[in-house]
Amino acid sequence: MPEYSTINLHPSSHPISSLKTHTYDVICIGSGWAGRVTAARVVKAGLTAVIIENELVGGDCPFWACVPSKVLLRSNETLEAAKAVGGAKERIIGDGVDVEGLFKRRDQMTAGGDDGQVLVPTVESSGAHLVRGTGRLVGVKRVEVKSWNGETVELDAVHAVVLCTGSHPVVPDVPGLNEANPWFPRDATSASKVPEHLVILGAGAVGCEMATAYLSFGATVTLITTSKEILPKIDPEAGKLVRERLVNRNMQFYLSTEVVRVTREATNSVKVELSNGEVISATEILVAAGRKASTSGLGLDIFGLSTDGSAIPVDESLCVEAVPNRWLYAAGDINGRSPLTHMCKYHGRIASQAIIAAARGTPRPHKDLDNTSAVADHAGIPQVVFTDPIVASVGLTRTMALAVGKSVREITAPVKTVGAMIHADGYQDGWAQWIVEDGSNKLLGATFVGSDVTDLLHASTVAIIGGMRLEQLAHAVPSFPTLSEVYLNLLEAAGF
Ligand SMILES: Cc1cc2nc3c(=O)[nH]c(=O)nc-3n(C[C@H](O)[C@H](O)[C@H](O)COP(=O)(O)OP(=O)(O)OC[C@H]3O[C@@H](n4cnc5c(N)ncnc54)[C@H](O)[C@@H]3O)c2cc1C
Repeated sequence: MPEYSTINLHPSSHPISSLKTHTYDVICIGSGWAGRVTAARVVKAGLTAVIIENELVGGDCPFWACVPSKVLLRSNETLEAAKAVGGAKERIIGDGVDVEGLFKRRDQMTAGGDDGQVLVPTVESSGAHLVRGTGRLVGVKRVEVKSWNGETVELDAVHAVVLCTGSHPVVPDVPGLNEANPWFPRDATSASKVPEHLVILGAGAVGCEMATAYLSFGATVTLITTSKEILPKIDPEAGKLVRERLVNRNMQFYLSTEVVRVTREATNSVKVELSNGEVISATEILVAAGRKASTSGLGLDIFGLSTDGSAIPVDESLCVEAVPNRWLYAAGDINGRSPLTHMCKYHGRIASQAIIAAARGTPRPHKDLDNTSAVADHAGIPQVVFTDPIVASVGLTRTMALAVGKSVREITAPVKTVGAMIHADGYQDGWAQWIVEDGSNKLLGATFVGSDVTDLLHASTVAIIGGMRLEQLAHAVPSFPTLSEVYLNLLEAAGF
């Protein structure tokens, strides 16, 4: 894959002149998952839609985020899985992953940064129209599109405009950081060479996943975070288990530490000064310090909305309530509710259903589980962090439950089952936790840590969204010999 800085983000197809009409039922600004799902679903319901995109069609996920990052992690996961099974491990030749081979696989999976291979045909086959350029609100239901060659056009929406412009990295206010030309996540996921020593600023999912990946490529990795534990949005025990495993693999962590200055000393040399007085010399620094909503230049100011990167407030149908007459929606990362790809797809589903219902004049039921309310944003956001070990979590953590005044208890159990023993010799660090509401015995949250725990999560997600009590879960019998038998361990720990 060409390095990020050399990729043409503005291909010449789908110019403004290719538009056959300037009026659409629905206009989506941004072609990430949120925009594509919204547009495809309204078209399926018989409305017309156009997507405006100012970079690669597809947004972050297929080119720079989920897909390449997971491909970069997968080879080592596979290797480690084989190493833990007698009869397979004896056949492994050589040490570590083949970095060149996995970069090649990443390039295939991301189509080398060419959106014409998969993403453009996907949009076209959905029946939505596509135009390349920057979208900006210029009036009620009116959007201006400005292309990179300076051509402009104004489009009108009959029913709705949906803002799906995603998010972009936060740049912490650290002296020298910008001037040091740091890596951002796009550089880390598209790189084709491995820095000898990578310093990572930030311990959220992106920072920790990239740390795990680059460690497996043979880099020395140092992670610096102001938080007390890594993965601060997840239960601290999960963060601790991941950190301990990575420390065993010689990774260095600085917790509760600030970076106070960064200096680029040469192409491959960066000096990082810390709040504890230490100075680290590294090859590259990756900034993974969170994300903010992509709101600038969208014309939001004419409707009195903030453009400083704060999330756009929306109601349960993802409609921007502050703008009268319910024609402006914000779906995906831009509304800050649940910035994850599967939740962006969910937002596309909810927003499109709300728009279709409004277009048909059918009243929206406004009930808890109706199909135009994004209730999962509150009750059960699932997330998998593909570190080593993997962390899969859904719903409320203890801290979140207490913050909303719920009285809860924590149930923990090891991921120790016959299935786990068959899965891998010495299945390591497997840990499971449920957060259960006192009194009702309803499941409110779940966290699983270990290898291959990703698919344990959905059963807990279903139980949380379904409002299931442990008395009911006790009759959901997991198959033998699967990792799912950890559910029996949790039930036993809960007294069932
Ligand atoms: C390294 C990394 C790894 C990740 N891994 C995962 C993962 O494993 N699982 C997961 O669930 N999530 C993951 N995420 C998060 C996930 O990528 C995002 O939640 C998701 O891509 C956001 O989708 P979206 O549709 O909101 O926006 P985006 O995909 O960002 O799409 C927005 C699009 O809008 C365009 N745009 C912006 N402004 C304008 C404008 N004015 N006019 C026209 N177009 C505009 C942009 O160019 C962009 O193409 C990861 C994120 C990162 C950074």
